[in-house]
Amino acid sequence: MSGERAKTLLWMTPVIADQIIAHCQEHYPKEACGLLVGSSIAPELQMIPEQRVVQVYPMINVEDSPIGYSMDPREQLHVEKLMRQRQQKLVGIYHSHTATDAYPSPVDVRMSISPDVSYVLMSLKDRATPLIKSYRIVDGKILEEDLLVEERKL
Ligand SMILES: [Zn+2]
Repeated sequence: MSGERAKTLLWMTPVIADQIIAHCQEHYPKEACGLLVGSSIAPELQMIPEQRVVQVYPMINVEDSPIGYSMDPREQLHVEKLMRQRQQKLVGIYHSHTATDAYPSPVDVRMSISPDVSYVLMSLKDRATPLIKSYRIVDGKILEEDLLVEERKL
């Protein structure tokens, strides 16, 4: 771990964080995954580029495995259509690690699609104390980004 951090922020309300935690707990000890949609705030508008999660789309892990996940392409197409209709943007992808830390695995890094997407990792290694972290993956490099879970006026 380089300890280098992304200069970005991912924000979600406690309700959104609870939805992610509940989905991951439901599928324990298998990995759960899903999409986070919302809006991006351009750097010109404020000091730190920020993504805001407004909705969680829990997805089916077709690998049905405790050590990996992949989404169903048909379900993905369906959600993409919903997102277009609702004029939403993909801001993040979340999945759980049920036996390891909230840190992207080499496979997670290899599968990453864009430096503009936040990778939210939920660790249930200690099941009673879920740990949630967010990363950007830029050119194969893992950068932790600030994750803000709180109510806030927009
Ligand atoms: Zn993973």
